[in-house]
Amino acid sequence: MEFGALGEFIVAHLIAGVKLLKGGSMSLEKTKELKVVSTNVDETCSHGCQLPYNGEMFESNVNHYIKEHGYKLLHIGQESSTDSDGNPYHSTVAVLAVK
Ligand SMILES: [Zn+2]
Repeated sequence: MEFGALGEFIVAHLIAGVKLLKGGSMSLEKTKELKVVSTNVDETCSHGCQLPYNGEMFESNVNHYIKEHGYKLLHIGQESSTDSDGNPYHSTVAVLAVK
């Protein structure tokens, strides 16, 4: 995995997210649906369409929800979990919301 590219992606979107929240254009009270996209979960789009790269690209999944369904990016962060062997691992999650 290219952590450099992913890191740049996260920083760019964190800045965008902060601007979004400060701008007050989006509030949770007006949000109808939250969507959490994780680097660890390959899944189909919750709207029933085929995700680009079969859902294997975190960036593409996030972009899909933003571009195709009008979601706004609220937050990107780290999530810690354990795998089936009990070993800890970290994933990146993006929290998206749509009105
Ligand atoms: Zn979709």
